[in-house]
Amino acid sequence: MYLVVQGQLDMEGALTARDRVGIQDFVLLDETTETAFLSNLKKRFSEDLIYTYIGTLLVSVNPYKELDIYNKKQMDLYMGVNFFELPPHIYALADNAYHTMLTEFNNHFILISGESGAGKTEASKKILQYYAVSCPSTTLLDTVRDKMLMSNPVLEAFGNAKTLKNDNSSRFGKYMDIQFDSQGDAVGGHILNYLLEKSRVVHQNHGERNFHIFYQLVQGGEEDLLHQLGLERDCQHYNYLTQGECAIVSSINDKNDWKTVKNALNVINIDETDINHLFEIIASVLHLGNFHFESNSKGQAILNSNAELRWFSSLLGVNAETLRKGLTFRWIEVKKDEVLSPFTTDHAIYARDALAKAVYGRTFTWLVNKINESMENTNSTRKTVIGLLDIYGFEVFNLNSFEQFCINYCNEKLQQLFIQLTLKSEQEEYEAENIEWEPVQFFNNKIICDLVEERHRGIISILDEECLRPGDATDLTFLERLEEKMGSHPHFVTHRLADKMTRKTLERGDFRLLHYAGEVTYCVVGFLDKNNDLLYRNIKDVSLHVSYGIVATQFKSSLLKLTEILMAKEAWYVRCLKSNESKQPGKFDEALIRHQVKYLGLMEHLRVRRAGFAYRRRYDVFLQRYKPLCPATWPHWRGEPADGVEVLVQHLGYLPHEYKMGRTKIFIRHARTLFATEDAFERC
Ligand code: ATP
Ligand code: MG
Repeated sequence: MYLVVQGQLDMEGALTARDRVGIQDFVLLDETTETAFLSNLKKRFSEDLIYTYIGTLLVSVNPYKELDIYNKKQMDLYMGVNFFELPPHIYALADNAYHTMLTEFNNHFILISGESGAGKTEASKKILQYYAVSCPSTTLLDTVRDKMLMSNPVLEAFGNAKTLKNDNSSRFGKYMDIQFDSQGDAVGGHILNYLLEKSRVVHQNHGERNFHIFYQLVQGGEEDLLHQLGLERDCQHYNYLTQGECAIVSSINDKNDWKTVKNALNVINIDETDINHLFEIIASVLHLGNFHFESNSKGQAILNSNAELRWFSSLLGVNAETLRKGLTFRWIEVKKDEVLSPFTTDHAIYARDALAKAVYGRTFTWLVNKINESMENTNSTRKTVIGLLDIYGFEVFNLNSFEQFCINYCNEKLQQLFIQLTLKSEQEEYEAENIEWEPVQFFNNKIICDLVEERHRGIISILDEECLRPGDATDLTFLERLEEKMGSHPHFVTHRLADKMTRKTLERGDFRLLHYAGEVTYCVVGFLDKNNDLLYRNIKDVSLHVSYGIVATQFKSSLLKLTEILMAKEAWYVRCLKSNESKQPGKFDEALIRHQVKYLGLMEHLRVRRAGFAYRRRYDVFLQRYKPLCPATWPHWRGEPADGVEVLVQHLGYLPHEYKMGRTKIFIRHARTLFATEDAFERC
C-alpha cells in the first residue's frame, strides 16, 4: 500500500519523498505539535497537495487555482480502493462513505465545514460529481443524476452572492440527501434549505452584490425577454443592484452563467411557463426596488414611479392601486373602526423592501420544492442515503448584523455536533468500554450554544420576548435586556459591561460574542425587525401568504431537527481551510491557517485519533463478517462472540498493540489492519 511504501522509504533513509511532499496522514506525524502540523500542511500545499488526512477526516486547503485532480481518470483511480492506498482525495472520502453504505446498508453524512471562502461548496460539488459519474447507471437513472448535478447552478444563482469574503458565497444553508438503492445506483435526491439571507435583496454592503441571478438576467437575458419584462440591459439602472458599487466582477461571467442556469432549469424539468414566471418575479423585484417615494407638504409618502408600478403589477398580476395604497397607507384601528393612516417616506421604503424580500424568499422556497419534485425517487425499494451538508461558513465583517448572528450560530451548532460525535463520544466510549485512556482536553463550545439558544435565558429567547412585548420595545431595549440577563457571562460583553480596555473597542449599540472561531461584534440595529420579518398587514394582502413565525426561533428549531437527522447517520468530515484572505493562488498565510487549525479543534482531533483507535466493531458483527477466515470460527462459533473474536484475530496475526478488547467491541488501532483483514475476506 502507498503508506507502507512511503514508510519503508523513510526507514531506508530515502527521505526525499517525505521531505518534499510531507505526510499524508497526520496520525503518522512524529510530533503532534501545532508547528509540526502546520509545517506538514505547508509542505504539501506548496506541492499542490491540498488534501491531508487525520485518520478518516479530510483536511482541505483552498488552493484558489484549478488543479488537474478532478477528472474521470482520477475518479476511476479512486473507485473501490481502500482509503489509505492512494494519496488523500475528496474522491477517496466520497468513495469510502459509498462503499461502507453499501456493505453495511446504513445511512451516512458528510459534514463539510470551514469559514466563508474555505471551499465547502466546491468540495460538496466534487462529491456530488463523483457519485454522478462513478456509480453504476442506467439510462433512466442518468436523468436523476443530471437533475442532481444541475440543481447546483440553479440554487447558486438564486442563493449565492459575491461578498467581501467570497465571490460565490452561499447565502443559505443546504443539506442534500443522495438516495441509493441496494445496487448502489443513485435513484433520487432531496434538499433541505436553511435561512436564506433575504435582506441582501434590498441591501448590499460596499463591495458586495445582490444574488447572482439578478445580474445574470440583466446582462445575459435575451433582448426579447428583457423587453417583455420591461428591463434595461444596465445593472446601474437598478437600486437593488448598485448599493455595493460592484455590479461587474472580473471573476464572474454573468452572461455565461445565465446560459448555464437556463439550461439547468430545463434539465430539472421546470416547464416554460414556470420559467417565465420565475423571471417575471425577478424582474418585478428590480422594478420594485426603483419605486421612489416623495413627501408631500404633510409629510406623507407619495409613490412617484408610475412606470415601475405598472410593470410590477402587470408582471405579478396584482392590482396597481391596491399596491400603491398598500405601500403608502396602513390600516389602523380607531374606536373599533379601521381607518387608513398615511405612511412617511421611511415607512413606505420599509414596506417596499419588506415586500421585495418576501417575494424573493417565497420564490426561493418554490424553487427548492420544484427541484425536490424533479429529483424525487419514484422507486419504492429500500434505499440508503448519503447526506451532504454545505452551509454558509463562519463570517466576521466590520459591521455584523442579525444575518451574521444566525450564520455564526449555525456554525457554532455544527462545531458542537462535531465535538459530540468525535471528541466527546469517542472518549466516553473508551471509558464505557473500559479501554485504558488518557483523556484529551478540548474546548467545548456548548457554553456558547447555550448562551444563544437556551430557553428563557438565551439570546434568541430574549429577542423573541422583546419582539412580542407590546409597547416601546426597540433594538436598544433588547440590548438592555441582554445586559441584564447575561451579566458576567464569559462569552458575552457590551460597552456597559466591558472593562476599560475592551470598552474602547465597542460602540454603545453593540454586543460582542466570543465564538469558538473568534470574537464577533454585532450591531443590534435591525435585530427586532429582522427577527419579526413581518410585513405590514395590507402589504401582506398584496403579497399573498407570508409566514408569521419569528425568524431566529424557527431557525433554531430547524437546526435542532437537522442535528437529529445527522445524529442518526454515520459521519464523515471534511474540514476546509482558507489559505489566505486575498484569494491568491498558492499563498499560504500561516497565521490565518494556524487560527483555523486551532478553532476547528484539529490538534485535539489528531491527539484523540493518534492515541485512539481508528475502527471499532461490535464483537458479534465482527465475528459474523470475518469468521470464514479462521477454521476455529467457521462455520459456527459456539462460545461468547468476544472469545470468538479473540481466537479469530490471533489466527489473523494481529499484534497486541494493534487492537484492544472492550466490553462489547473490538477496537482496532489502525485502519490498515482492518483493511488487510477486509482484503483477506474478499480473497477467500
Ligand atoms: P461560503 O461559506 O462563503 O459559501 P465556501 O466555503 O462555500 O464559502 P467556496 O465557494 O467553496 O467557499 O470556495 C470559494 C472559492 O475558492 C471558489 O469559488 C474557488 O474559486 C476557490 N476554491 C475552493 N475550493 C477549490 C478547489 N478545490 N480547487 C480550486 N479552487 C477552489
Ligand atoms: Mg459555500
